[in-house]
Amino acid sequence: MNLNDIKITKTASPKAKPADQTQLGFGRIFTDHMFLMDYTKGTGWHDPRIVPYQNLSLDPAAMVLHYGQAVFEGLKAYRAKDGEILLFRPQMNFARLNASDERLCIPELDETFALEALKALIRLEQSWIPTAEGTSLYIRPFVIATDPYVGVRPSNTYLFIIILSPVGAYYPEGLNPVKIFVETDYVRAVRGGLGFTKAAANYAASLKSQEKAKELGFSQVLWLDGIHRKYIEEVGTMNVFFKIAGKLATPALQGSILPGVTRDSAISLLKKFGYAVEERQITIDELLDAYRDGTLEEAFGTGTAAVVCPIGELIYGDVSMPLSGGKIGPVSQKLYDTLTGIQWGTGEDSFGWAVRV
Ligand SMILES: *Cc1c(COP(=O)(O)O)cnc(C)c1O
Repeated sequence: MNLNDIKITKTASPKAKPADQTQLGFGRIFTDHMFLMDYTKGTGWHDPRIVPYQNLSLDPAAMVLHYGQAVFEGLKAYRAKDGEILLFRPQMNFARLNASDERLCIPELDETFALEALKALIRLEQSWIPTAEGTSLYIRPFVIATDPYVGVRPSNTYLFIIILSPVGAYYPEGLNPVKIFVETDYVRAVRGGLGFTKAAANYAASLKSQEKAKELGFSQVLWLDGIHRKYIEEVGTMNVFFKIAGKLATPALQGSILPGVTRDSAISLLKKFGYAVEERQITIDELLDAYRDGTLEEAFGTGTAAVVCPIGELIYGDVSMPLSGGKIGPVSQKLYDTLTGIQWGTGEDSFGWAVRV
C-alpha cells in the first residue's frame, strides 16, 4: 500500500479553531479529519482513508467492547519556528504499536505505511497545529477489534484509526516538581502480562490507584512490581529515573513496564551529557537508604506528554522524602531543555531524531 491508495474525503463544514491557545488543555478538542483503515482476515489491511472526524458505528457485540482488544500510541507534532512540522522518533511509536498488536493477537501494521498515512493526515490538518509556546498537536493512533461476537477469541476484523488533538503546554508556568506516592496495595502489571504494551487494559487497571493518589493530594503514583512489591516500575504513565550518588538509574525493561520513547531518548542524552546510566532493578529500600544517606540527588519521570517531570517529593508509607529541595534538579532541567529543543527544532538534534512531515 502507498500514499495514492488513501482516499480523502474532506469535510464540508470545518470547525472553528480554538481562539485561545493558552486554554487548550489536553485531549478534549479534535481536528476536522481522521484516518481509518480496515482489517479483514484473509484480505489483510485495506481501504485506507481520511474522512471527516465523526462517530464510529459499531455493533454492540463488537469484541473490543467486551474483551478489551485495544491498543494505542501517543506522540506529538510540533510546529517549529521556521514553519516546519516536526515529529519526534515516530518510527518508534509504530514499532511499539506493532509490539502491542503482537501481544494482543492483533494483526500487525505496515509501519512505513502507517507513518506515511499519519504524515498525510497531519499535512491536511496542519492549520490545527497550535503555535503558542509549548503547545503541540497530540496524535492518537489506535486499533480496536470489531467482530460482532461475544465468544472469547481474537477478532477477525479490526479498525486502525488516527485522531489528532491540539494540546496546550504541559507546564504553562515552567517545569514544576510533583508529589508522588508509592503504591503498595494495587499493581499495574506483571511480567508475562501486558505491561510492556500500550494496551487499553493497563490504563483501566491503573485508575483506582490514580484516584486514590488524587484524593490524598498526589499527582501520580510510583508503581512497584506486582510480585515482590519492592522493585520500582514506573511513575503513573511515565518511566522513572533516579540520580543516586552521581549516577543515573532507571528500571530495566523486563516485560512489565512500558519501553518509553522518551526513556530511550533520555538514556542516550544522559550518556552524551557524560553521566553513567544504568538500566537495572532498583528497590524501594535502595531509594530509602540513598535518601537517608543523602545520595538520592534527583528523581524524574519521562513521557511524551510531560517530556520530563521532576519529582519534588516521594512518599512511601509514613516516610516522606523531599528531593532536590522541592525544586527542579539540574539534570531534569537540562534533559527537558535538550529534548524540547529537538522537538520544537530550536536546539541541536545530534541524534537525528526529528522527522519532518
Ligand atoms: C506512554 C507511556 C510511557 C511513556 O512513553 P513515551 O513513549 O515516552 O511517551 C510510560 N509508561 C506508560 C505506562 C505509558 O503508557
